[in-house]
Amino acid sequence: MDYICDELKRLNLKLNIKTNVSMKEYTTFKAGGKAACLVEPYDAESLSEIVKMCRSKDIDYYVLGNGSNVLFTDDGYDGLIIHIGADMADMTLNDDIITVGAGASLPSLSGYAASAGFSGLEFASGIPGSVGGAVVMNAGAYGGEIKDVIVYADVCDSNGSILRLTAQELELGYRSSIIQKKDYIVCSACFKLNAGNKEEIKTKMSDYNNRRREKQPLSYASAGSTFKRPEGYFAGQLIEQCGLKGFKSGGAMVSEKHAGFVINVKDATAKDILDVIAHVQDTVYRNTGVKLETEVKIVGKTKENILNILTFGYKYGKPPVCDMIIDVRFLPNPYYVDELRDKTGNDDDVYNYVMSSEEAVKYIKKIKEDILEYAKKEKKMPLVGIGCTGGRHRSVTIARALRECLLAEEYTVNLKHRDIDK
Ligand SMILES: Cc1cc2nc3c(=O)[nH]c(=O)nc-3n(C[C@H](O)[C@H](O)[C@H](O)COP(=O)(O)OP(=O)(O)OC[C@H]3O[C@@H](n4cnc5c(N)ncnc54)[C@H](O)[C@@H]3O)c2cc1C
Repeated sequence: MDYICDELKRLNLKLNIKTNVSMKEYTTFKAGGKAACLVEPYDAESLSEIVKMCRSKDIDYYVLGNGSNVLFTDDGYDGLIIHIGADMADMTLNDDIITVGAGASLPSLSGYAASAGFSGLEFASGIPGSVGGAVVMNAGAYGGEIKDVIVYADVCDSNGSILRLTAQELELGYRSSIIQKKDYIVCSACFKLNAGNKEEIKTKMSDYNNRRREKQPLSYASAGSTFKRPEGYFAGQLIEQCGLKGFKSGGAMVSEKHAGFVINVKDATAKDILDVIAHVQDTVYRNTGVKLETEVKIVGKTKENILNILTFGYKYGKPPVCDMIIDVRFLPNPYYVDELRDKTGNDDDVYNYVMSSEEAVKYIKKIKEDILEYAKKEKKMPLVGIGCTGGRHRSVTIARALRECLLAEEYTVNLKHRDIDK
């Protein structure tokens, strides 16, 4: 969208701006559609100006580091990508303290520390992210994590103000931080290391990297571990136990080498990858009862504007893949009306019968509010299951009514009826 580009130019900063950018080029999954516009700030001040402009012009933006933990949907992204990259990658060493721009690559930071004889960042040498992305995700490996070494990070808030957050204020947890909750942008970070023996540090780093090469499918495009580690389990093990190694959809596949990685084998679309992810989540849940959450961030129009509804019969249980279950068994059942019994919810007579009840009209309003509330909180549309008994009358009717009401607000709504045993 050219108006985003025009607004950026009006800032009169020396910004690198691109339009209609393929996100394949900016993500390690090498998949996904195009972003309307991409800009690369070169310091905290230019970043702050961009954020203020977006706020005042109501422009949506998404912050991207090295794109090693993100999947853009095939429909792409309508707003502005703020790419924190090589223009914000300065590193300075002062005694045992390293201050580094958020755009620096984690392996180069790790190498820099090692060459200067400082230990603490060896774990990061094979994590292909930026420093900003690593702080946001509290990246970690081989027993180390960002939390162990960070002193503070300078961040830009959504008003464009720059704040300094201490390690404690960053609230770093397993792949989480306050930055994700508050939509801050990391400008730079400061790490405290320990003086060590250069050779020992480098040996440790190459040991970690050999272990990665041995265990991980590094010759394929991916975003690393696709799923978070569920408490008490390992995602890869659960996926392997369910016989999903090698499961394929289009160009995407569950890696044969490491089941925790969904890989782009050949020209995968984002939809291929999302289909594999959904199949894995569904199968693992049905077989083990464990719900796998993606570690990879899914960004783009599909997640924000498309609602998928699955209608189902309670006789066969709730579909485990759904994020939200709507029970419509309390509504008047057309199955007990002789002339409606053999019809389905797609029939107008059934539809009119169910929707003539006051409860149904009220309920639609409530469901819509709940869905939009979920979307706001989770930053994605839920997969909604609508269930009833006695034919598909009530679930399909409510799904249709919900679709009509959301279509009016420019959402796309896909309806699907669940096969009995899935
Ligand atoms: C082969 C491979 C191996 C991997 N191994 C590991 C591993 O061992 N351990 C591990 O933890 N991860 C691993 N990862 C995942 C990934 O590298 C990390 O999560 C990394 O920290 C992401 O950094 P990034 O710059 O690529 O972030 P991106 O993918 O660009 O973004 C990730 C998230 O951070 C946000 N973000 C990025 N930069 C900023 C910023 N400056 N300010 C605010 N928000 C920002 C984005 O909006 C997004 O929400 C691996 C990935 C691959 C492809």
